[in-house]
Amino acid sequence: MALIVHQFPCLSDNYGFLVRDEATGKVAAIDTPDAEAILAELGKLGWSLDMILNTHWHPDHAGGNEALKTATGATIAGPAEVTRIAPLDRALRDADVVMLGETRLQVIDTGGHTLGHISYHDAENAIAFVGDTLFALGCGRLFEGTAEQMWASLQRLAALPDETTVYCAHEYTASNARFALAVDSAPETKARAEGVFAARDRGEPTVPTTIGVEKATNPFLRAPLLRPDAASPAQAFGEVRAAKDGFKG
Ligand code: ZN
Ligand code: FE
Repeated sequence: MALIVHQFPCLSDNYGFLVRDEATGKVAAIDTPDAEAILAELGKLGWSLDMILNTHWHPDHAGGNEALKTATGATIAGPAEVTRIAPLDRALRDADVVMLGETRLQVIDTGGHTLGHISYHDAENAIAFVGDTLFALGCGRLFEGTAEQMWASLQRLAALPDETTVYCAHEYTASNARFALAVDSAPETKARAEGVFAARDRGEPTVPTTIGVEKATNPFLRAPLLRPDAASPAQAFGEVRAAKDGFKG
């Protein structure tokens, strides 16, 4: 049965996601960047919140947990690291399954941006919520993990079916596209970057993306091709990540 995804911008460059299991009407918030904005969207939609699913502990992902739980009574599931800043009812780890009504969300460990970062995959509907691990034309910074850990996490996402719709937590794509053009001369990357700039000029979101599009154009997934002399794919990835960290585009 379908999972309806309602996406809306909040804070300076986050996306909030409210998802509704069509079979049962159960609703979850993927991360809690802004409790007030989420409550306002729930009101507009006429939905009531049953569950909060966090991807990682950062305040722009779990900072609204407490206020939303107080306001709605929703139960909160996420990686144990969330308790650093926010309440959590159920600690999730790799391969756990969360049922939202009849929708089955499988937990994938995608540590690297933070050590405990997780993603949620609905295989039946080919949808993934990836937080700050994979972005359109980009990936999350390595705040806590190593290049090896993040590369392994990105490979797990890249192994999902190409048609998988990927919901990333930030609109960073124009900045990512400027970097992609600087490090990757592939025609597919150039064409995509032009599409991204045009979409942003029109004020349109560039999220969601798909696994297939990212495999074809994302310089972080393409790192081993861009850095053929690196000792390993993870090292190639680490070099591209470091280049982006120092990129003034
Ligand atoms: Zn983050
Ligand atoms: Fe974030």
